[in-house]
Order: sequence, then structure tokens, then C-alpha cells
Amino acid sequence: MGITGNLAARLTAIRQSSLRNSRQTIMSRRLQARRTDGVDKNVWVELTQMAADYKAVNLGQGFPDFSPPPFIQEAFHEALRGGPPMHQYTRAFGHPPLVKRLAQFFSRIVGHEIDPLEDILVTVGAYQALFYAFQALVDEGDEVIIIEPFFDCYQPMAKMAGGKAVYVPLRPKVEGGTVLASGDWVLSAEELATKFTPRTKAVVINTPNNPLGKVYKTEELQMIADLCIKHDVLCISDEVYEWLTYDGAKHVKIASLPGMWERTITVGSAGKTFSATGWKVGWAIGSGQIIKHLKTIHQNSVYHCATAAQEAVARGFEREHALFGTPESYFQQLPAMLHQRRKKLASCLESVGLQPIMPEGGYFMIADISSAKVDLNDQGTEDELYDSRFVKWLIKEKGLATIPVSAFYSPEHSKEFDKYIRFCFVKEDSTLDAAEDILRKWSHGQ
Ligand code: PMP
Ligand code: GLN
Repeated sequence: MGITGNLAARLTAIRQSSLRNSRQTIMSRRLQARRTDGVDKNVWVELTQMAADYKAVNLGQGFPDFSPPPFIQEAFHEALRGGPPMHQYTRAFGHPPLVKRLAQFFSRIVGHEIDPLEDILVTVGAYQALFYAFQALVDEGDEVIIIEPFFDCYQPMAKMAGGKAVYVPLRPKVEGGTVLASGDWVLSAEELATKFTPRTKAVVINTPNNPLGKVYKTEELQMIADLCIKHDVLCISDEVYEWLTYDGAKHVKIASLPGMWERTITVGSAGKTFSATGWKVGWAIGSGQIIKHLKTIHQNSVYHCATAAQEAVARGFEREHALFGTPESYFQQLPAMLHQRRKKLASCLESVGLQPIMPEGGYFMIADISSAKVDLNDQGTEDELYDSRFVKWLIKEKGLATIPVSAFYSPEHSKEFDKYIRFCFVKEDSTLDAAEDILRKWSHGQ
């Protein structure tokens, strides 16, 4: 272990000891509410800290390490120079210029006239829109169908609302021995149909999917929509990577399918849309009959979101509306740039023997680590899954941060999927070069 490793180990020991102290009994009765039970561990908290402690090249947490485009930065600067109203509270359910622009922009995509005041709620990132959807719509004992692998917060959010997560997996279609692309991971209509019960309240989908990069085809969405309609169930559709599709894959909104507007909550993120994850502006869009219940949670918790950031995002959408479908649109430029980075990462992984699954969308790529020969005996705890121990080894010993794919599975199924790790490619070329350098040296035994 080098100097950095020693320092990181000391920092971890200090943190663990302060955690132990904070766990000392401070009340004679139970301190924490039961909804916190079993959801206290979080992969992002643990691994983002570890990546920082070891100063690792970070292909872990999903955020761009480059600046957002100049037009959106300028819009934020201008908003800050916009006088007192830009620095004070705005409308609780969304800054008027932003909901107006979102309605204008998404109406033509969904094929439904979106009412800016009734059908949209602006939130602190997509995370909060998701949290509100669960809090507002899921009751004690309700079941929520989640398609695995899934962005990890859906399960704790369902649980904290009193609901029960019911899982259905995307299964790799193995043809000729290898699975090469995210589109090869498919959902069985028969298996999904068996998960619906009279207690099912909602199905959660995520397209393009994190971590796999699968972009659901219209037929797949139609199959899910048919079941939602048949069983009178809601659909929470997480579409934060909606602009990021590659090789001709097309993002389709499930809310645009017949009969689905009335029962879908579509979640979006300005952080992902404009490469500004730190701004934490997100939204939920759906029928006013549904969104009004999310508004109830919002007005009794956060109340409203940062004004200047909303103003800047509104200007971003105004620009994108005018440029829609042209080469100047950021929604064309970002995927074009990422298409190259995705190819670069895939060929690097292939060259060191880590078989990547080519994503059709999003900004992550998963790779099979089963052929990597690494002694992980002294990594992590005994009950820790292989991919998690591998990721920790890669950070500590090689200085490269990634995310174990088992974190995107339920505890029931994570063991079956612990031979993949996730790499993020929304990074500078120099960051990808540094990662490549580490992987090559490792594959050459250095
Ligand atoms: N959904 C998915 C699938 C994500 O990957 C993320 C992470 N950004 C979020 C929601 C949360 O987005 P935000 O940063 O806007 O809260
Ligand atoms: N969505 C991002 C990812 O999957 C960030 C998650 C987070 O920071 N909690 O990496």
C-alpha cells in the first residue's frame, strides 16, 4: 500500500470510529424510525468516498467531468444577474418560464397537450421526482414491479413508502455463447404478466437503462403498457438519459402510447440533459390528476426549488426547442460525442479481455469480469459479492473506480449477477486514456 493508500486507510478508520460513536445509545427507546431499517447502506456513498480517498481515476459515479455547454452556463450567469426575483422564491410547483418551456417542448414528443401548471412538477433532480412519485402514489402493502437491473434507489423508495418491491429480470439472450449488446437483454412478457396481482400499484421502467444501456423498443413498451392498462396499474418511467441513444436506437416515451398518458409519471433530469448534474433540477410530468398528489408531498416538504437554476434550464429548453433536430442542438451533439467515447471505452475493455456489453443508450457500459484472474481473498467482507470485492480491489490496488453491477439487483438476485462491473464514459478523453493506461498495465502484469 502506498502513501495514498495509508492515508485512505486512516481516513476510513476515523470514519468508522465516528460511525461507531454515533451508534451509541442516546435514547432509552428505539431511536430510528423503522423505515430506515435495511436501507442504510448506499453504494454511491461508499464508493464515491472510496474513489476520492484513493484519488482513483473515476469511471464510477455517473457525472460528466467536463463543463456543461457554454450556452447553458451563460444562461445561469444571466439568471444570476437578473435582479431580486432571481434570488428569491418562485412558484412552488415550478418556475413559470421553466414549466412553460417543458410543456412546449414535451407536448410535441408525447403527442399530448401538456398543461404547464397542472401536468408538471419541478423537483430537486430526478431523484426527488421519483421519491415524490413513490410517496404520493404507493400505499402500505402496495406492490411495485421493478425490472432488474434497476437504478438502485427504486427499492428503498418503494420500501420507505410502505410498499413491496416485486422483481422481474431482463434476461440475457445467449446466442452463440456471448452476449454482446444491451438489446440482447430482454423482458419476458409471460414472466412479467405473472408478477401482477390485485395489490400491484405501479411498474417502474427506466429507458435508456442504468446500468445496462438498454433502450426499450416500441414493442417492448407496448407489451408493458398493455399489462398496465389490463391491470389498471400506474407506470413510473425514468427517462433521465432520453437524449442519449446510439447506432440508430430510438428513445420512445411510454406516455406517448395509446392509453398511457393517463397513467404514466415521466421523470426527467436537467442534470443529465445539459451535463450539469450539480444543478439538481428535475421534473415529473403526467396527468394533472396524478401530479397533484406529488404536489401535495412537495408543498409539505421542500416547497420549491432553486430559482436561478430553473431559469437557466428554461432558457436551455427554449434554445433546444428552436434548434430541435438540427446539428446545432445539444441533444444531437452530446450523443454524437459520447458515441466516440463509448467506442473508445469498448475497444479498450476488449483489448484487456473484459467483454463489454455495448449499450444502445445512456452513459454507462457494463463488462464481464469473470475471466479476470485476481486474488480477492483479503478484499471486503466475507459475505460481500465478487463484483463488489473486485471493484474495491480495483480502486485500492490499481487506482480505478467503477461500480459493481450487483448493486442494481435486489438482494434476492444480486448473487446471480455479480460478475459484471459498470464503467461510466461521460468523461474527458484524458480520463478515459488514464483508465486505459491502468487497465493495460494490469493486463501486462505490471
Ligand atoms: N434516474 C437514473 C436512472 C439515474 O441514473 C439518476 C442519476 N443521475 C437519477 C435518476 C437521478 O438524477 P438526478 O441527478 O437528476 O437527481
Ligand atoms: N445516476 C448516477 C449514477 O448512476 C449518480 C448516482 C448517484 O450519485 N447517486 O452513477
